[in-house]
Parts: sequence; structure tokens; C-alpha cells
Amino acid sequence: MASRTPLVAGNWKMHFDHLEATYFVQKLAWLLRDAHFDYKRCEVALMPSFTSLRSVQVLVEADRLPIRYGAQSVSVTTQGAFTGDVSADMIAALGCSYVIVGHSERRKYHPEDDANIVDQVRAVLAAGMQPILCVGESFEERRQGIELDFAVGQVHDVTRDLSSDQAAKLIIAYEPVWAIGTGMVATPESAQDAAKAIRDDLAATFSRDIADGVRILYGGSVSSKNAVELIGEPDVDGFLIGGAALNADELAKIARMT
Ligand code: PEP
Repeated sequence: MASRTPLVAGNWKMHFDHLEATYFVQKLAWLLRDAHFDYKRCEVALMPSFTSLRSVQVLVEADRLPIRYGAQSVSVTTQGAFTGDVSADMIAALGCSYVIVGHSERRKYHPEDDANIVDQVRAVLAAGMQPILCVGESFEERRQGIELDFAVGQVHDVTRDLSSDQAAKLIIAYEPVWAIGTGMVATPESAQDAAKAIRDDLAATFSRDIADGVRILYGGSVSSKNAVELIGEPDVDGFLIGGAALNADELAKIARMT
């Protein structure tokens, strides 16, 4: 089986201006250095607002920090008269490794449907970065007992249009919507069930090798109180973290546990 390097990714959402972002990165790097953190064992990534990406890049490059970073969404077009949009090439030019695609907040507050999400994934891949594709059921789907089919279906809506090479570069974040920002976390067993169902679907669509290489993260109220149990599951390869990623001490703690 392919060995997968765990990833701890902090999704800052619409928090922190560029000065606060710079201070946070310095503090996190200092905390992890102090703890002799091994970035080869576990990757750490931050997803700031567009306005902070350049500041994060300058700091990471100047101090040669092994911290990765990325954006929270992307335009599906490459350039032109699209006021307010930011292209994948612009994001890649800032040294970004990742772009979050299809976060439930984007699906809810912006017109991001399945077709748009596939186009975002393609744009990110074409620019040489990795999409972190977010999927996950609402409370209603869980109540109906269709959560696995729902999450797998959301992945499938994207992967059916991808080649094997493209699929191999995906990172998937299983984020049950009812768990995001609520303090209600999925049990390790249900996070594992979803991650395994998604991985098995990737194996059926592409190959077992590709499925075994794709990192599947869990997201939804992750904290230092629940990270150890979640990462103990064989198909959970790390975390996409919102609230707890706004505190450098807490994020460093979770990275050390992962
Ligand atoms: C998220 O927004 O991706 C997320 C998982 O948030 P939180 O950790 O706050 O639930």
C-alpha cells in the first residue's frame, strides 16, 4: 500500500489581515521549531485570504520555512473581464501548493455547483497545484442514513470527468457540514467509514494504486482533544481545520499529534 504523508491544513476563512497572517506564521514556525517538528513526517499548510498570500510567500521564502500554503477558492477562467476573480495562474505565481475547492461555505454562499467545482479542480491542476476537494453530507442526509452515498456521489461528480493522472493529484477533505464550526465532531469510526467509502470508489473508478495514493482528510470541529483518535483511523490522512487553526498553539499541538 502507498504510504501517505499526513497533511494538517488550516483554513483561515475570512480571518486575519496580512499583518496578522505574518505574525501567525512566525509564531507557528517558532512553536514547531521549538518542538523539533518533522515536516517530512507530517505536512503543515495554511490557507489564508487572497490578500495575505503574498505576505505569507515572502516570509516563507525569506526564512525558508517548510510550511506550505494555498488559496481558499479560484476562478474557473484564466483571465479577462471577470471583476473580483483570481485565476489559478495568479495563485500559482505566489508559490501556492493547494487550493480548497467546493468548501460547503462556498457551495452555500456562492453559485458553486458541481460543474463549477469540476472546472475549479481542472484550473487548479492545470496551474500545477493540488485541489483540496471538500465533500460531506448535511445533517438531513445523515438523518436519512445516506451520508456515505452522498459524500461518495460528490466525489464522483468530480472524478468522472478526470483522467487517472489528474485524479492522482487530488486531495479530498471529508467534511460533514453539520460538524463544521459546531463543536460536533464525527466519531473516528464514521470518519473512517466515509474515507474508506471514498477511497474504494476511487479504486473502482481508477485503480487501487491511485486510490491508495490519494490523501483523504477529515474536517469538522477538529481540535487537540479529538485529533489523536481521528488520525488513528487507517484511511484518515490528516485534517482540514477551521476554528482551531486560528490559534497557533492549538494548530501546532494538532500537527504534533498527527
Ligand atoms: C472548515 O471550515 O473547513 C472546518 C473544518 O471548520 P471547523 O474546524 O471550524 O469545523
